[in-house]
Amino acid sequence: MSAALINLAYLLAVVLFIVGLKGLSHPRTAVRGNQLGALGMFIAVVATLLDRQILSFEWIVLGVVVGALVGTVMALRVPMTAMPQMVAILNGFGGAASALVAGASIVESALPEVMPPAPLSQLMPAAAASGIIGAVTFWGSLIAFAKLQGLISENPLQVSFLHYINGILLLTAVVLSVMLSLHPTQLGYYWAILAIASVVGLLLVIPIGGADMPVVIALLNSYSGLAAAATGFVLNNNALIITGSLVGASGVILTTIMCRAMNRSLRNVLFGVWVPSEAGPKADDVYAGKVKAAAPDDVAMLLEGARFVVIVPGYGMAVAQAQHAVRDLMQILEQQGATVEFAIHPVAGRMPGHMNVLLAEADVPYDRLKEMDEINPRLEQVDVAIIIGANDVVNPLARTDPNSPIAGMPILDVDKARSVVVIKRSLSPGFAGIPNPLFAADNTLMLFADAREGVQQIINALKAK
Ligand code: NDP
Repeated sequence: MSAALINLAYLLAVVLFIVGLKGLSHPRTAVRGNQLGALGMFIAVVATLLDRQILSFEWIVLGVVVGALVGTVMALRVPMTAMPQMVAILNGFGGAASALVAGASIVESALPEVMPPAPLSQLMPAAAASGIIGAVTFWGSLIAFAKLQGLISENPLQVSFLHYINGILLLTAVVLSVMLSLHPTQLGYYWAILAIASVVGLLLVIPIGGADMPVVIALLNSYSGLAAAATGFVLNNNALIITGSLVGASGVILTTIMCRAMNRSLRNVLFGVWVPSEAGPKADDVYAGKVKAAAPDDVAMLLEGARFVVIVPGYGMAVAQAQHAVRDLMQILEQQGATVEFAIHPVAGRMPGHMNVLLAEADVPYDRLKEMDEINPRLEQVDVAIIIGANDVVNPLARTDPNSPIAGMPILDVDKARSVVVIKRSLSPGFAGIPNPLFAADNTLMLFADAREGVQQIINALKAK
């Protein structure tokens, strides 16, 4: 196939990626966006296979079969709550693949019978960049996976000089990259770069607490894109350069959105150690004698008279897999003539879009899902706000306590609703480890239950009326 046709195919693939990405920005167009992206990937893969003359297709077919099998089993078996570690491991593999392809290209470029895909003055620095970013991504992602999977301790580690060690190691890797570029036949430099970058990847993520891991994963996702873009320069492949850059840029945007929604800076996530604050109010002071436990019947009675109900889902809904029961509750309330909307906080749950994905899985119509900025001004008109397994995203301490770890984090102002019902199993804190005065407010009723069971009990009580 001629070079012009190959490049045309790549251009088409890249256009499909960009249009697909645009589609992902809204739930209604997301499935179509995904399909366009997949079509783009198919075209890019076919063009690449046709582009190369010397190919052993047996290995490629074997790789596709093994990869498809492992991927299918993983995707079918992973629970929604374990999605962050699944994404982490996939990013890691992306980084490792980039570093390995870059290494293979260096080995290949030394063979007399093979024409390097790019001039060595481009290939070597690009391969070094791919090796550094790819190895950091792989090892960093493995640690993120191990922390979230509970294989190693999730606790943050305070090691102040670690950043200096990382800085020195990275500098060494850059110096070795220059050496590799000057002496392209010395493969040893590349292995040394990989070894050093692997240590940086481990040291970069080990000190970060499990709670901050989702942000780190978004950042590593961006790194995996940059590693792929660097490998695109190694292979002189325009599609890979553009695709890698798209992944790199979207990963950075996602990281920024998550940091902003948690009111934290990236620097603070990466280099600051976040331990639960000792300074804030103690749970006993906040709750003692003020918490009102309710039975499902009480909640049903409250809901019977409600015209405008807002449901706030949180991490507990994901843990309990309560989304289908929540949809049933919505339908019953609507049959009773109430308006039901969902208030979605950008960092509710443990990954971006966590609640949107769960509610979409349960076929809750998209137009019922309201983002924080849209729903907050209307919460004063709400008759009953039902909080299902959410805690930090509705904690008024974010507004009132400047010493709180969530100080300044924008929250859903559900305390302004006429009545609040909270379904959770106990008064245990959420991710931020702090008490929540909302649970002790005059207008709040606590239904202590697993989210799915609690919602089901309310449905049964409503049906029995
Ligand atoms: P929280 O972590 O604040 O609280 C979750 C609550 O769910 C807990 O208090 C727990 O209480 C309850 N819960 C757990 N299991 C169940 C169950 N089976 N049934 C009912 N309740 C249950 O969750 P939020 O969603 O409110 O907040 C998310 C937090 O995660 C924020 O602090 C955010 O910054 C952070 N975060 C989010 C990220 C994202 O991308 N979404 C990324 C990184 C961090 P109990 O044990 O009493 O039941």
